[in-house]
Amino acid sequence: MSMNLGSVEMPDKTGYFGEYGGSFVPPQIQQVLDEIAEAYNKIKDDECFKEELASLYKDYVGRPSPIFYAKSLSKKHGGARIYFKREDLNHTGAHKINHCLGEALLAKKMGKKKIIAETGAGQHGVALATAAAFVGLECDIYMGEVDIVKQHPNVIRMKIVGADVIPVSRGTKTLKDAVDAAFEAYLEDPVTQLYAIGSVVGPHPFPMMVRDFQSIVGTEARGQFKEITGGLPDNLVACVGGGSNAIGLFTAFLGDEDVAIYGVEPSGLSLKDGEHAATLTLGTPGILHGFNSYMLQDKDGEPLPVYSVASGLDYPSVGPQHSLLKDIKRVTYVTASDREALDAFFELSRVEGIIPALESAHAVAYATKLARTLDNDKTILVNLSGRGDKDIDYVAETYGREYGIK
Ligand SMILES: *Cc1c(COP(=O)(O)O)cnc(C)c1O
Repeated sequence: MSMNLGSVEMPDKTGYFGEYGGSFVPPQIQQVLDEIAEAYNKIKDDECFKEELASLYKDYVGRPSPIFYAKSLSKKHGGARIYFKREDLNHTGAHKINHCLGEALLAKKMGKKKIIAETGAGQHGVALATAAAFVGLECDIYMGEVDIVKQHPNVIRMKIVGADVIPVSRGTKTLKDAVDAAFEAYLEDPVTQLYAIGSVVGPHPFPMMVRDFQSIVGTEARGQFKEITGGLPDNLVACVGGGSNAIGLFTAFLGDEDVAIYGVEPSGLSLKDGEHAATLTLGTPGILHGFNSYMLQDKDGEPLPVYSVASGLDYPSVGPQHSLLKDIKRVTYVTASDREALDAFFELSRVEGIIPALESAHAVAYATKLARTLDNDKTILVNLSGRGDKDIDYVAETYGREYGIK
């Protein structure tokens, strides 16, 4: 049996992955979303567009990103061999540039003047501001005040490449509040602006579009891994915030039954409400930000506060395709805590000389744990979604003493 849950069959025309996804927005926004879906469906198979994007991936982003065999790390844990797909080496430092270039090119082709978005860790903001500068569009980035302080270098980067960074002071002053603020700004003028969503979330067609742009990660990895090892990886591991780097790696392997797939959510400080963002692990289906998916909600359907040491992972919902992949048990969703992620952050830095993003460190933490349970003829391919440069000041400040760097 070959399951293909990738670009070909999912979602259906109205954006459903099983019961998840869809589009729950006011009528005037639905009209604009229909236009975006139509424009996207036209260009996605257009040879010109495909060539333009492929050449940007190569010459601007630096693709294909390499696959690196982490020999020392694997040896240290004494089990399966651990490999990294090095999305951290992309221009702007993470996987997000893959979909931002796609969204910016689409906006340009649709005649939009401005792209707007929210950002958590600042990685989506930086990638989008960069793509906007390159394509020649204005760019407004909404960011929670807490994240602005935590991710200061990224704020400066966005401003240097010409974006406006708009601080959001409501609520917990983090990612969810930034999404709310950006969405309100979008409602005011959906005609000349395009809301470039930062993950595989939001109403249709965004979960599909962002997945399609990110699927380059798994497509490349499949070929590279075969070339390096002669076969496919036995296991895939990726961290899950909204779920874009994970689905980007997973899509090319969903039909390969022998490949076990793990998505790693942040269990933060504990599994108590407000101290984690383990949406698939502890959530229930509900509608937030225009789509139906697992979500962390109170009894009235309001999103619960979320937290993770990794700003890019603290979101109370998750991409709808992940909800389906959980229900049909194609992907296993697990957790890593702040502490496990921090340990992995320092371990990968010290053993291999690679400083991972705190988000990616959650995937590294679970991969090393998994490796120890497996024989050394088994392999694990981890999506190293981003580099940790953005996190070093915060980590040194907050945890430096414990890890002997202060
Ligand atoms: C934003 C971000 C994430 C989380 O977003 P996903 O959509 O779940 O991939 C993970 N890693 C890095 C480096 C990020 O910047």
